[in-house]
Amino acid sequence: MRVLIIEDEKRVASFMRRSLLEIGYAADCAYDGEEGLKIAQGTPYDAIILDLMLPKLDGSALLKTLRKLGIATPVLAVTAKGTVHDRVAGLNHGCDDYLVKPFAVAELIARVRSLLRRRTPKTSTLQVADLVLDTTARCVTRAGKPATLTAKEFSLLEYLMRNVGQTLTRTMIEQHVWNYNFDSGTNLVEVHMSHLRSKVDRGYPTQLIQTVHGIGYVLKEPDRDS
Ligand code: CA
Repeated sequence: MRVLIIEDEKRVASFMRRSLLEIGYAADCAYDGEEGLKIAQGTPYDAIILDLMLPKLDGSALLKTLRKLGIATPVLAVTAKGTVHDRVAGLNHGCDDYLVKPFAVAELIARVRSLLRRRTPKTSTLQVADLVLDTTARCVTRAGKPATLTAKEFSLLEYLMRNVGQTLTRTMIEQHVWNYNFDSGTNLVEVHMSHLRSKVDRGYPTQLIQTVHGIGYVLKEPDRDS
């Protein structure tokens, strides 16, 4: 996976680059809009992280140009502006996701990963063992039996299933499902997780959702041997 980071704050750019290298991605940096556009046109990337406030050519203009040129690389827009208006405007300019500064490294990685996953042909069904989630019909079944989930439980489960085998921290879950960028100091995640488990795990021979003590949760494919 190769990611292009277009960000004029060199410290931020190098921090993002290091974070991506640590998870085994290749990453290049461009420090202004013109340079970024040039590199993006010349090299195929799997994803682009784009700061919207850039010298020479601003992020939204860069993005518009990219899309006009037919370059459909998924773009994660990054900005300090966090209002709903900007968020919607950013998405209209053709970016695929949006991250507001300051952000946690875990959040950056989660967003890049989900961007890369979305790049692959969309299937509307996620399946882990006998648990099936249909993102289009928005229904869930376990061993063929339908489970009735609330909207939050559904996004919680979808998040777990899209990251199967990966431990998700409470903070990551809060940020993803509730958009909290801070520790809410509540047991919101625990409460919803417990409801979700009672609907999709309780009473089945294999518990797919597991607690990682002191950290968070993981949804695991059962061992084939056991
Ligand atoms: Ca900037």
